[in-house]
Amino acid sequence: MRYEDIVNFIKKLYLNPNSQILNPTIPLHEPVFIGNEKKYLNDCIDSTFVSSVGKYVDRFEKEFAEYVGSKYAVATVNGTSALHISLLLAGVESGDEVITQPLTFIATCNAISYCGAKPVFVDVDRDTMGLSPESLKKFLEENCEVVDEKCINKTTNATIKACVPMHTFGHPCKIDEIQKVCAEWHITLIEDAAESLGSRYKNKHTGTFGKLGAFSFNGNKIITSGGGGAIVTDDEELAKRAKHLTTTAKVPHPYEYVHDEVGYNYRMPNLNAALLVAQLEQLDKFLQNKRELTLKYEELFKEYDDIEFVKEPQNATSNYWLQAVVLENLETRNKFLEYTNKSGIMTRPIWKLMNELEMFKDTQCSGLDNAKYLEERVVNIPSGVTL
Ligand SMILES: *Cc1c(COP(=O)(O)O)cnc(C)c1O
Repeated sequence: MRYEDIVNFIKKLYLNPNSQILNPTIPLHEPVFIGNEKKYLNDCIDSTFVSSVGKYVDRFEKEFAEYVGSKYAVATVNGTSALHISLLLAGVESGDEVITQPLTFIATCNAISYCGAKPVFVDVDRDTMGLSPESLKKFLEENCEVVDEKCINKTTNATIKACVPMHTFGHPCKIDEIQKVCAEWHITLIEDAAESLGSRYKNKHTGTFGKLGAFSFNGNKIITSGGGGAIVTDDEELAKRAKHLTTTAKVPHPYEYVHDEVGYNYRMPNLNAALLVAQLEQLDKFLQNKRELTLKYEELFKEYDDIEFVKEPQNATSNYWLQAVVLENLETRNKFLEYTNKSGIMTRPIWKLMNELEMFKDTQCSGLDNAKYLEERVVNIPSGVTL
């Protein structure tokens, strides 16, 4: 079988020759804890401040904002809640519409739905796998008009309040062009940067192009707090509102419980923040390791005319969170998935298109040819930091 060399190559990369475990499965992405994780966690437990108050949350927010180059960061309980609050802060309300890409993880669309809003799906670019600025422009020109500084969808009469592009597998989409189109059409730009911590476009960190950006620190992401997320923004007012809404909208007071609106318990516990501070210290090392892995994979897949290894797009430095290959068609994709998984290598197809899921099947879509093409061919291969 011609995929045998690929399987052997990946096993050599990831398997410890002294391992006692027979036939282990090599995961897609495993967290790595080789820094100050235990030290900070112990410190956190000793302090008894393990929950919603503590110095690690403050420290993480400060260090994270510095890392990505935004003025403010607010830590949240997960990436989905970071997206939800970002959308609320963009003024997304029940009955509104939000443009996003059909090729994304379900969390993007769930967050839109939590606001009572509907997604509208616009095609992706083949090279970035993220929202296409040309398709976005075309959709708006054909379907929308600006009335009183609002973008009205003429088909549904709803207001398109926000646009949420996503940086797929860490590869930046053409975010500066998307930013321009959104500004022209009075649409608030929110970036789903859940997968792209460490990725830059034209030397600016992803997540900082939009009014707000959302990150995730789920167990499978490039750094993890077990579960966690963050909202970033340069707008002081929005940052304050984000903190307020994610902490039950409690008005500061030494002992009285006063809440001035319906808020959310979306705060990241201090225990998780302690883990995350230690992980952030190692991010540059992880990024370096992933670039080395990329070079090795590139070399390997050169030998295969019918498998395209996915590289970072032009003008971008990718974190290479999840490595990916593009197979020739659905049939060879399925063969590749079957063979590798049977051989103890975890590989996974890219997501099913959101507009094909039951709850979004009546959603308005522009032509989704590129998304469909990628859906049928893209497979993720083991991408974790190699030790
Ligand atoms: C991981 C992820 C999220 C957020 O997920 P959580 O599990 O809630 O942290 C959002 N969008 C995308 C594209 C993701 O990959």
